[in-house]
Amino acid sequence: MEKRKSPEHDSPPYYSSCKKSLETNDLSKKQKEVGKIAKKTSYFLLKKCGTMDTDFPKYFADAESTFDEAHFIIYGVPYDKTSTFRKGAKDAPKTIRQASWNFETYNIKTDVDLKDIKIHDYGDLDVKNNIPETMIKKTWMFTSKLLDKKKFPIALGGEHSITSGIIKAFPRDIAVLSLDAHIDFRQQYGDEKYNHACAIRRIAEHTGTQNIAVLGIRSADKDELKDAKKSNLLYVDAYTIRKMGIHHAIETIDKHFEKKQIYLTLDIDVIDPAYAPGTSTPEPFGITPFDVLDCIDFFSSKIIGFDVVEVCPSYDHGETSILAAKLIRHLIEVVWKKRYA
Ligand code: MN
Ligand code: MN
Repeated sequence: MEKRKSPEHDSPPYYSSCKKSLETNDLSKKQKEVGKIAKKTSYFLLKKCGTMDTDFPKYFADAESTFDEAHFIIYGVPYDKTSTFRKGAKDAPKTIRQASWNFETYNIKTDVDLKDIKIHDYGDLDVKNNIPETMIKKTWMFTSKLLDKKKFPIALGGEHSITSGIIKAFPRDIAVLSLDAHIDFRQQYGDEKYNHACAIRRIAEHTGTQNIAVLGIRSADKDELKDAKKSNLLYVDAYTIRKMGIHHAIETIDKHFEKKQIYLTLDIDVIDPAYAPGTSTPEPFGITPFDVLDCIDFFSSKIIGFDVVEVCPSYDHGETSILAAKLIRHLIEVVWKKRYA
């Protein structure tokens, strides 16, 4: 197997937790070595993943391009201030990056080698301690900059509230596909407007409800669901997907969105907790990782941005971060094939 290249990035201005190690020569040298060893044997890696906090390269594996040359920009939005049940999603950008080192650069499913794709890992936005409004604004501004430069944004949450900040950077007439166990359509949660339970409602203020579809739900407040129906929010619940199959759901959504470009937001809790236990608000009877793959594959020619939210490492044994990292890699590969190859 080929060895990993060492990190040779521009110094990302928003790096917070990663900043020190990238700027310190010693650690940076150490990272280079670890990057090389990490690719030598996956056993080494698996061992490392067990502890998760060792000397891992701090960037997403194979994100070796500079900001200017990259098509895809990965950035962390480490935020979990509004999480209602379990906190810890702010640590997910780090563990997803670590998990990304588990994989071969080549993917037999897509027949793409990630080495051939220009990806840059920008590091994390400095939002951890902000009030939700400030986090939203920073995420919005940063994503706008990426879109101005014709980059494809890939955000690592953080909780689901980050997505409305990202969406504000896009034109209002895009479609938003949310894969989620929850409908997230509350007007507010407590007195909080930007709570993660209100994500879709906030997104709808930008795109309109008619441009949103939520797939995989199996949890909603009674009034919330009533409200969603009244607002004509398209959703397909997990029980219907189980009965009719994922392709039926995909076709329903495809018809609804017509030819629109699609922003895809993946709340990892849409996947059954048996596959993805490390999440803030787990909900049984979820869809499978293969269902998510099918969605990504089907819409790959229309997808214009992506985020993975609600991974919560403190309730994980590594498998949820691994799954998130693999799905990100897969999405990059299939989108690249359709748009840039
Ligand atoms: Mn959600
Ligand atoms: Mn959810």
